[in-house]
Amino acid sequence: MLTQAEERLRLLTDVSSLLASSLDHHITLQDIAHLLVPTQADYCRIALVDEQQQIKEVTVNHIDPEKNDLVRALYEQYKDLPNTTYGLPKLLNTGKAELISDVSENVLEMYRENPELLAVLQALGLKSYMGVPMLAHGKTVGAIVLSSIQSGRHYEEDDLLFAQEIAQRIALALDNARLYEEAQAEIAERKQIEQHLRFLSEAGKLLASSLDYQTTLKNVARLAVPHIADWCSVDMKVEHHIEQLAVAHVDPKKVQWAEELRRSNPPDPQSSYGLPNVLRTGCSEFYADISDDLLVAVSHNEEELMLVRKIGFTSTMIVPLLVQGKAIGAITFVSAESGRHFSSTDLSMAEELASQAAMAIDNAWLYQQAQQAVHLRDEFIATASHELKTPITSLKLYTQILRKQLTKLGEEGMVRAVLKMDAQVTKLTSLIADLLDVSRMELGKLTFQEEAFDLNEVIKEKVEHVQATTAQHQIRIEGTCMQLVWGDAERIGQVMTNLLTNAVKYSPDADEVLVSVSSEQERVVVRVQDFGIGMEQAHLPHIFDRFYRVNDPAEKTYPGLGIGLHIVHEIVTRHEGTMSVVSEKGKGSIFGFSLPYAPAQRKNSASPLDKENAII
Ligand code: ADP
Repeated sequence: MLTQAEERLRLLTDVSSLLASSLDHHITLQDIAHLLVPTQADYCRIALVDEQQQIKEVTVNHIDPEKNDLVRALYEQYKDLPNTTYGLPKLLNTGKAELISDVSENVLEMYRENPELLAVLQALGLKSYMGVPMLAHGKTVGAIVLSSIQSGRHYEEDDLLFAQEIAQRIALALDNARLYEEAQAEIAERKQIEQHLRFLSEAGKLLASSLDYQTTLKNVARLAVPHIADWCSVDMKVEHHIEQLAVAHVDPKKVQWAEELRRSNPPDPQSSYGLPNVLRTGCSEFYADISDDLLVAVSHNEEELMLVRKIGFTSTMIVPLLVQGKAIGAITFVSAESGRHFSSTDLSMAEELASQAAMAIDNAWLYQQAQQAVHLRDEFIATASHELKTPITSLKLYTQILRKQLTKLGEEGMVRAVLKMDAQVTKLTSLIADLLDVSRMELGKLTFQEEAFDLNEVIKEKVEHVQATTAQHQIRIEGTCMQLVWGDAERIGQVMTNLLTNAVKYSPDADEVLVSVSSEQERVVVRVQDFGIGMEQAHLPHIFDRFYRVNDPAEKTYPGLGIGLHIVHEIVTRHEGTMSVVSEKGKGSIFGFSLPYAPAQRKNSASPLDKENAII
């Protein structure tokens, strides 16, 4: 026979090992209630309270299992009694233990006012009673109530102390379980936030990677499943209807099915909930928990209800794509087979994604508009320069006829005037030719007539030509090209003319322009150096851009369109050559270009004839 002390020690050990064995207090409390009955009581109740001190759970065990309902009814009777003077609610209110060693008729007398409660107490045959609060860190987390009936046990002070010891252990274990749960929840939340951030960063990269926003949004939808949602779809408002741009699910068959479903059941734009509503109001819709009642409420007909039930929605969120405050589309996230329920953190993530996506769409639209404007401008330049060509050609012809006639008539003064006119017409012709070249370049229609040619000849001719336009500058050539060059001689001549004209134009106070030609192993390098106004370094990276001009308000303005160097760069690059520029403000500039004797493309198909053509 165990002594009472030994029995209690064993019970304490059993309770402790039970508490240590599981973090699931539901199971543990049930087991403890079984340990306490019948060793310590004929029936017991273990109650837990929530943060607001409301009873959230009562575990009951009666020596006679059939009476468990009666014990539960006891609490139900106590529950709504104001200022209860006995029992579980009082314990939880005061946080103080209570002991009624002998539940006499006098005690029961107190319940005369409440015949139902009295009936329950009498039915239970309560003889002795004690209740102890479970306290963790000064807070009541619940209570244990032990009652005696047929055993004839009468609780005394030492029984109460023992019950307090048990309550203390349970309270600590519960508190540990709570802390553990909180830590777990925190870890889960952190993991979820990390996953969201990773997703947002991946989606952000995708959105920034292309201006083709339709493909990008399809990829974003694909990226969202299955980690963020089981289904993800992107819809856009197109005039008066809603167009599904993308729908993603891990199972391609389901995607196909969803697409068919959308075709046969398009959303009603007037609907006051779901996608149409989000598109109309620009506000997100969020259903953390989708009940069957909701499905019934939102389905238009039996068939639709069957379909939505088949999908098995558990949670959904629809977030608008807002551009300048207006919803241009929406992203829908649906949780189904995973059984997940979206949280407010998920909603924030979805809204952040939608705002990134909307920005990408807006950028793509702006870019498209800019492209269209550029295209229109290019078309205009092409048409205008083409239209200008014919009248200018006849103007040129007539100035020549006029000059001949006036020379014959000996009108020298008039001849000089006509010559000036002719020079201006020539300038105009070359401007129009440049404009035509630029528009051809944009359309990829700049053609080349390639052959092996003598670069020295071309340089000499162009130097003479430009020299004739300036009396102030002396243009000198140093060095020669030692081999024939493969390419379009006329276009390379155009490069030379442009660089020489600029050198003269941008060195109004200088008297010299130097052209140096150096033959290297595989290529020739030509440099045109002037001693003119030069440029700040900041301009150099842009100098070959279309329409780029250096505008220094302090400088006098030079006429030009900012396309000459752009054409030069294109011609040289198309010959597999490179451009270089060195310049110093106030000191002058050196523009250089290199040309391979034979571009790689040509080398691959070189014929013996090319070698014969070489100078050395
Ligand atoms: P344009 O001379 O018609 O303006 P370009 O494309 O030939 O156009 O040149 C672009 C800009 O580069 C010019 O506006 C000018 O500011 C600068 N630039 C070109 N060549 C020189 C040069 N030799 N010295 C100084 N600046 C130059």
